[in-house]
Amino acid sequence: MFIWESRIITYVTNILVLIGYAMLFNWIQSAKFKSIRNQKLATTYLIAITVLFLILFHVASLNSMIQAGNQEGFGWTYINFQVGTVMFAMLMSRRRPILYCLAVLLLAWYWWIPNAPNWVPFYLISLVLMIGAQNFGPVIKRHLVLYVPFSLIFAAPFLITNVYSLKGINVGWPWQISTSLVISLVLWLVQYAEKRHKQSQDKLLREARVDDLTQLYNFRVFNEDLLNSFTDMQKDHQSYALYTLDIDHFKQINDQYGHLMGNQVLEAVTKKLKEITDHLEYPAEAYRTGGEEFSFVLHDVQKSFERACEISRLVHHELGTLQFVTEQQETFHITISLGQDRSMEEDKNYLDVYRRADKYLYHSKNIGRNAITVRGMTIEPIE
Ligand code: GH3
Ligand code: MG
Ligand code: MG
Repeated sequence: MFIWESRIITYVTNILVLIGYAMLFNWIQSAKFKSIRNQKLATTYLIAITVLFLILFHVASLNSMIQAGNQEGFGWTYINFQVGTVMFAMLMSRRRPILYCLAVLLLAWYWWIPNAPNWVPFYLISLVLMIGAQNFGPVIKRHLVLYVPFSLIFAAPFLITNVYSLKGINVGWPWQISTSLVISLVLWLVQYAEKRHKQSQDKLLREARVDDLTQLYNFRVFNEDLLNSFTDMQKDHQSYALYTLDIDHFKQINDQYGHLMGNQVLEAVTKKLKEITDHLEYPAEAYRTGGEEFSFVLHDVQKSFERACEISRLVHHELGTLQFVTEQQETFHITISLGQDRSMEEDKNYLDVYRRADKYLYHSKNIGRNAITVRGMTIEPIE
């Protein structure tokens, strides 16, 4: 009776320790460590905790064998936890240094384990399974029908070597296999919970950055990107250009044809704008910077006033040719007002370029709308 009580207490405690390990592993892998330097640090921490937990289980195993006075003792209870730890580390991270370190550690374990002279093929099988787990981790984790058999196959070489080592003692295979299964299911649940948590975080993050109606980045991202472009310009002296445009009398469209029609206009403008910017010779990003105000940034631009005028005219023309049909079969078109400027080496602040482009946009509005102002000059649109 005492043996079973101890077994169960040890088992539950170890499950909790293992969950702690898995959560710590996930936490280190999470967004906390983002920069390159920190990535190396994160890998070091991941290796350190994995090795630490393996050693912890190993020492606990030796300790319980000594207490029980034989090798059969409780040593068995721990091996499945160690296998679970190794498999989790391999499935959860593609970082090669973790594989290399664990490969060396397991070499030491296979070499150390007493009475198992034929350990080399088992070690090699373990190694192949570890590489497999690392390379196909995402697929294996996604499907329980793959994960469960894989976890049993993963455990097999370790358990068989242990049986050799214990000279064919009565292993109690049902207990061993069910322990192994429970451990792998617990670890699966930990990674599943982490995955769901990450998905909901990503969703929130996306919602904070992407406009729901048009799926364009919002002003927050526009602001961040402008700051990044400004910082880059100070390093590489590459110019970028900002085009900002606003639909004329958009409120009238809402008032006349309804808010849903207004939304359709915004979606169509987005689609056309993306089409245009995708085909320009410069890397581009478009944003919804306000209700019916859009902006796009072109990177690494040539300092050509002519080209800026051509692009502005193209955008003005293409958006002007969009045709909308209402439920009453009325058709209408829109016009836009546009302002453009590019970054200047002498800019003191990342928002300077936006202030200028915005000023030119309002100039276009003030002179009667349906107009283009490039670097302070009002230019003729395409007829
Ligand atoms: P202006 O030529 O001076 O730009 O006039 P305007 O009517 O376009 O500008 P105003 O700022 O007066 O009105 C903008 C309108 O855009 C008001 C607001 O209800 C509408 N709007 C903002 N966001 C959305 C949206 O997501 N969908 C729809 N349908 N309308 C929107
Ligand atoms: Mg407007
Ligand atoms: Mg506006």
